[in-house]
Amino acid sequence: MSATVFSAGFQQLGDTFYSEVAASPLPEPQLAAWNAELAASLALPAEPDEALLATLAGNQPPVGAQSIATVYSGHQFGVWAGQLGDGRALLLGELQGQEIQLKGAGLTPYSRMGDGRAVLRSSIREYLCSEAMHGLGIPTTRALALVASPEPVWRETRETAAVVTRVAPSFLRFGHFEHFFYGGNEAALRQLADYAVQRYFPDCLTAANPYQAMLEQVIARTAELIADWQAVGFCHGVMNSDNMSLLGLTLDYGPYGFLDGFDGGHICNHSDHAGRYAYGEQPEIGLWNLHCLAQALLPLLDREAAIAGLKRYQPLFEEALGERFAAKLGLRARQESDWPLLSRLFELMQASRTDWTIFWRRISHFDSSPGALNEPIRDLFLDRTAFDGWAWDYKARLAQEGSTDAERHTEMRQVNPKYVLRNHLAETAIRAAQAGDYSEIARLQALLTRPFDEQPENEHYAALPPDWANDLSVSCSS
Ligand code: AMP
Ligand code: MG
Repeated sequence: MSATVFSAGFQQLGDTFYSEVAASPLPEPQLAAWNAELAASLALPAEPDEALLATLAGNQPPVGAQSIATVYSGHQFGVWAGQLGDGRALLLGELQGQEIQLKGAGLTPYSRMGDGRAVLRSSIREYLCSEAMHGLGIPTTRALALVASPEPVWRETRETAAVVTRVAPSFLRFGHFEHFFYGGNEAALRQLADYAVQRYFPDCLTAANPYQAMLEQVIARTAELIADWQAVGFCHGVMNSDNMSLLGLTLDYGPYGFLDGFDGGHICNHSDHAGRYAYGEQPEIGLWNLHCLAQALLPLLDREAAIAGLKRYQPLFEEALGERFAAKLGLRARQESDWPLLSRLFELMQASRTDWTIFWRRISHFDSSPGALNEPIRDLFLDRTAFDGWAWDYKARLAQEGSTDAERHTEMRQVNPKYVLRNHLAETAIRAAQAGDYSEIARLQALLTRPFDEQPENEHYAALPPDWANDLSVSCSS
């Protein structure tokens, strides 16, 4: 078996942008999960050999490139936080044009108060959700491998260490640009922006101002991404500017959560006391972060053009959101009057705390024939009469565009997933893994690769959360 050879990408920028760091050895590494499909796309074997496993554990340096920790800064919870950086992540290099990063590989010059490690619990959450989002068709960083170890790591209690191998075309964050702007290093800012445009936004090169064109693409991608999150009921939990991907990918899975019972003000992160990153705030926060990025790029931009670009965010987001929800309702043509229909639905769902995923899946089987009660959907609401009123109008709207049930049902099942990674599902895999059994991780990974398929043998994974799930709390501790 020949060694896996990484190529240097980001490393070519020079050491203003990173520190060369060797991973800290991880004792007794065990492969807890492996993504064979992603491995194949990276020209890696169907199972990692000993040498590759040692590299992914951090026990053997990558061949072909130097492992690095990149430096960035950022705004955390609305406040300028100064220098942050890869405090526990190492970029090994690239395979097939994709950056390969180890998360939890030990101390770096940017670890600040941290230990450079990630615990098994949060690593399983990151591994599974990356692949769940990919299965849902939502842009995200990917997860290739999960390596566990008995090495103790202290959080609120004693836990154990793990390393996730993450994969993305680029792990560039808004915060990378903020770092050089606030550090007053315009040459480095320009160098980084040139790298980003050339590698990731090449169609911007011919624009009058390529940096402005790139900013506009990031604005559009962010609007699309957050519309995706809102539609599927995903809450990121820590939308700090250092967790925002330049490529519009879902990045840094921490205290995220999928909505169970609908609450527009749902806060998934127990450390987020003010609800800055609540479900309903995400679209606005997306724009707030884009302002941070635009501010950082300002030395390369025309101020008025940058402002005009940012003003495009709201209409782009609304367009993207309208598209997603029309599809979720099985409507082909869109009308202004669909917004009131939707907001009435949200009011009813809010009042009943109707389960988000179950509702959308059930309405994907809405019976529009005269007299049909649609009891499985109706039963999700406390005020059944109010639901009947809404259903009447929905039915009229469907009739207006000549919608046929069978055809619409098929289409709606492609956009309203049956399976999402609810906290309690991840928790079950975590508890088993902490006891040495990794099989639930693989089962969930397989399940969530096909979230729109019925999978009758997996019906129980689509059920309401059990009572014990009410006591689960996720915080920034990872
Ligand atoms: P996060 O809240 O996970 O996005 O992390 C914010 C910053 O803290 C980033 O610079 C991380 O690299 C750093 N960080 C988080 N946890 C640790 C840790 N256990 N050790 C070192 N740095 C960490
Ligand atoms: Mg982060």
